[in-house]
Amino acid sequence: MPEHVHQEARSARPSRPPRTTGGHAPNDAASVLALQRTVGNAAVGRLLTIQRVQQNQAAALPAPITINEVEEIRRYRADTPNADVQDLLDQLIPHLDRISAWNRQNGTGGGHTQIDQDATAAAGSNRYAINYAGNGTVPQQVAILVHELTHVLINESYDSDMLNYPVAPLPAGSAATTESQRQSERIAATDPEQLRQFEAYVTSTAADLLHLLPGAGFAPARVSEVAQKLSGHTATKPMFEFDAVLSHLLTWSDQDDIATTSPFYQRLRAAVAETRTWRQTGVVTPGPAGSVDTELGRVTSAWPAINAVTRPPAPPRPRTRDRILAILNKLKR
Ligand SMILES: [Zn+2]
Repeated sequence: MPEHVHQEARSARPSRPPRTTGGHAPNDAASVLALQRTVGNAAVGRLLTIQRVQQNQAAALPAPITINEVEEIRRYRADTPNADVQDLLDQLIPHLDRISAWNRQNGTGGGHTQIDQDATAAAGSNRYAINYAGNGTVPQQVAILVHELTHVLINESYDSDMLNYPVAPLPAGSAATTESQRQSERIAATDPEQLRQFEAYVTSTAADLLHLLPGAGFAPARVSEVAQKLSGHTATKPMFEFDAVLSHLLTWSDQDDIATTSPFYQRLRAAVAETRTWRQTGVVTPGPAGSVDTELGRVTSAWPAINAVTRPPAPPRPRTRDRILAILNKLKR
């Protein structure tokens, strides 16, 4: 069964950079001399070393746009005129206090959210650590945070070890210790026919959106990103990446000012509303769909039209006949 894969950004950098550098370290010769008189050479040497380390750490990230995550999510709620986004943010904002760590990492693609075991034990209720790609623009980072906060919302709704489905409880006597072990055991304990229906329906929804995507009005680069989320995440990992990808797409649609009357947006809005109802009732009721294989076939068949948008063909070479006629016309003159 699937491993734990609600992760889009992989980063070599394990920890966040300091948000400010050298704020309390001496920064000119006069203050160094003054400090040496006050606290002695050894202490000043330590301070200067700290300052150099901080400067080196800051230089490791290419010009990050540092944001205050909570503030930016609240600002987005205050600023967006889109009622669907407002409704989504109103579901997410009550859980902001559950984030024990916002870890900015290199990259622009996505993030990863997991239960923070130590913070959860200390607080007595679930706490989460969010790692996210922090090199993009503020709107790009906000879209990723909305996605990651949806993972928190899913887990708070289903108590499902981060799965997008209210799976059966962990079997009695389970020896699972990791999140992915618990996920596997809980999936194995759940009615396979129910899971099959869910996966087929999620894949069918992704296929619907992929077929409507070329006419949605996104710029080509965004079409690529949306298609990648739907194909590479939702359709291949329906148990892990459904609601959060829908949130991501809703945010991009708002940020890019996609017409809310477009068939793509209407289909997206319906899926967003449906998953909200599922989370609020705790009951997932998939609609009709073909087999998983049939729906994956529909995902694949959407790609030629998407590629036509994202990879426009080179202008056609003049036909041989036209070239010969052009030469003859030249000779006639
Ligand atoms: Zn995700």
